[in-house]
Amino acid sequence: MKVEKMAVKRDYYEILGVPRNASQEEIKRAYKRLARQYHPDVNKSPEAEERFKEINEAYQVLSDPEKRAQYDHFGRVGSRPEAAWTDPHIGGFGGVGPDITEIFEELFGFGPRRRRRTPERGRDLQVDITIEFEEAVFGTDKVISVERLEPCPRCHGTGAEPGTGPITCPQCRGQGEVREVRQTFLGRFVTVTPCPRCHGTGTIINTPCQECGGRKIVRRTRQVQVHIPPGVDQGTMIRLTGEGELGQYGGAPGDLYVRVHVKPHPIFKREGKNILLDLPINVAQAALGDEVEIPTVDGNKVKLTIPPGTQYGKTFRLRGKGVPDMRHPNKRGDMLVTVRVVIPKNLTARQKELLRELGKTLGRVPSPDDRNFLEKMLDAIGDILNIE
Ligand SMILES: [Zn+2]
Ligand SMILES: [Zn+2]
Repeated sequence: MKVEKMAVKRDYYEILGVPRNASQEEIKRAYKRLARQYHPDVNKSPEAEERFKEINEAYQVLSDPEKRAQYDHFGRVGSRPEAAWTDPHIGGFGGVGPDITEIFEELFGFGPRRRRRTPERGRDLQVDITIEFEEAVFGTDKVISVERLEPCPRCHGTGAEPGTGPITCPQCRGQGEVREVRQTFLGRFVTVTPCPRCHGTGTIINTPCQECGGRKIVRRTRQVQVHIPPGVDQGTMIRLTGEGELGQYGGAPGDLYVRVHVKPHPIFKREGKNILLDLPINVAQAALGDEVEIPTVDGNKVKLTIPPGTQYGKTFRLRGKGVPDMRHPNKRGDMLVTVRVVIPKNLTARQKELLRELGKTLGRVPSPDDRNFLEKMLDAIGDILNIE
């Protein structure tokens, strides 16, 4: 029986080859040296496995100051020393503790997989926002509602109903991991996996929080302030750093992307940094010239001089009356005013009479074979296509 075997075995100090007053460091060094020498993967001699177990047992006791003191005093450890060696939960290789498995990792590159809770950055979020034409031109501040997962406010992220608390997981006894012992010809190997019951946390919740149902997080709608700079356009993305989903295990939160949609304007159109306006004028204004007031996106009116003989489609440029540059708000685009000459439809008898009178003085329409007419046609087409 194992217990008896333990009782008659050699002195632990002798096994490790260290003096009785050896320091913890000396003991560890001796153990590492011997473990490397007798590890069954390395040493194929028949007695290696037995030797290896012995070394582990000795180190298990001597590396623990409390057990070592007991051993020095009583010559054995604990009131039931066999428990330490037969309980598979204590460790592998005939009973190794966490310290030994760490050394194995160092020496041989294997051992229990430790749960690594590396920081995870939160996901990015995206929301859409629709703003007025003028707001896109001059910028604005908006408050938008954004949903994201946050720690439950009722249980403060514990998942347990207030007044109750998480209890120690009975399956792993709070260790967060379960050890499975496999008996092989090399000895007992231990695999460590996260506890399936508590998912590695070491605790379980008996009375789940009523708000989050024990999930610790809830979807919450927050109000987020968005500064929209002057000059944004349809489809512009505004990034709000850290306003995305929260990170995990100390990771940074993600970002929030706000995609801008711009409502159409009843009279203005936009082309990059320029604002376009169609200006209807009548034939008399086009022929004789005029001074008209036109609206601007700024909200005030400016005077525009229409020179006599202005053709349909003629475009006038009002410098600096367009959209500010997103990066250089002092630089503004232009306003392009395109003249649309409106041909009158419902004329009074008097107006018809005057027009006929006018028509006679203008003479006949030139015929298409007239060289002069062709040039005028090309001019007119050029004007319609806004070629200046
Ligand atoms: Zn909760
Ligand atoms: Zn557990």
